[in-house]
Amino acid sequence: MSQIPVAKPVLDEQEVEAVRRVIMSGWVTQGPEVAAFEQEFAAYVGAQYACAVSNCTTALHLALRVVGVEAGDEVITVSHTFIATANAIRYCGAVPVFVDIEKDCYNIDPDLIEAAITPRTKAIICVHQLGMPCDLHRIVAIASRHEIPVIEDAACATGSEVFWKGHWEKIGKPHGDIACFSFHPRKVVTTGDGGMLTTANPEYDRKFRLWRQHGMSVTDAVRHGSRQVIFESYPELGYNYRMTDMQAAVGREQLKRLPGIIARRREIARQYAEQLRSTANVMPPIEPAWARSNWQSFCIRLPGYLDQRDVMQELLDRGISTRRGIMNIHLEEAYAEPGLSRIAASLKESVAAQDYSIILPLYAQLTDIELTSVVDAIRASLYSCQVAVGRAG
Ligand SMILES: *Cc1c(COP(=O)(O)O)cnc(C)c1O
Repeated sequence: MSQIPVAKPVLDEQEVEAVRRVIMSGWVTQGPEVAAFEQEFAAYVGAQYACAVSNCTTALHLALRVVGVEAGDEVITVSHTFIATANAIRYCGAVPVFVDIEKDCYNIDPDLIEAAITPRTKAIICVHQLGMPCDLHRIVAIASRHEIPVIEDAACATGSEVFWKGHWEKIGKPHGDIACFSFHPRKVVTTGDGGMLTTANPEYDRKFRLWRQHGMSVTDAVRHGSRQVIFESYPELGYNYRMTDMQAAVGREQLKRLPGIIARRREIARQYAEQLRSTANVMPPIEPAWARSNWQSFCIRLPGYLDQRDVMQELLDRGISTRRGIMNIHLEEAYAEPGLSRIAASLKESVAAQDYSIILPLYAQLTDIELTSVVDAIRASLYSCQVAVGRAG
């Protein structure tokens, strides 16, 4: 059997045709397709406003700036996340303050947030890691008690849901103040690269639109479509954080596929959990009763006496690609210098999650037969590794 990858985007003729349509229209940068994608995305997640940008990292940067994060401020988040979460905080000259995660669901431990708050805390970035919603009820309650804005890093969480005030709602409504999404190919839907900001705050949305396009008072599309001569002005510092119309056209096709993609991902996750239940020593992820993951990633915990790298190599030798658990930012060289970040308390669960968990192949095209072959390979690999350390039987 050929190699089973960890992830695979669902891209086909519809996306090709969408890009073709845009190219032939003669308008390829931010324009009508971006506007349509924003409206469709807002409708899908139930948000009042959605603003498309170049990726989720730039979305996080704009979100932090709009809530007023400045040099010397602190932003509470996790170390157990992709490095971009903390990098965006540093773009503002602010200091990421790392708190630990909960062992079972790999998300920020709400019990640890309050102790990390100082007079310099200007925002909390909670991450819906691996697509699993974090405990928004408790996080938002703590944040509002201290009047600190909540930015949701929803890079992995397009289509994930949370039970909120009596019914299921999509991540991004938003439940904090702003949610930031990614359309990188490693996420559930892709535009190559791309991002989205959702909010219920019209003033935030206005700023995002201004800043993503160099701080320019009128957009290219408006100027181009006007019958009168318009001179633009630049009232504020901006960036080039635009999404192109070619990307947005792909995004619109991806949105059509999204419900089907998520249904299949949930079915695969259900089968993994069921089949792995009888596999001693591996712990599948836990989905709280108030959460419905999109299963952007399926992360299993290995027993501490096995070497993660050995298990991954055994799996690779059997044709199965995996990835190690989510990285810890505080262990990376880019964060080594004192003062660049602050560790609020012990990060032992974050480190353990990095060192003792592995991410399994999960994508909509994965067949039931392939899934079973992954589970069989996990059993065989664990057995080989256990024999090697004398713990078999
Ligand atoms: C992927 C990811 C990002 C960065 O998204 P880009 O669109 O690649 O900039 C940020 N945060 C988390 C948690 C991610 O997984």
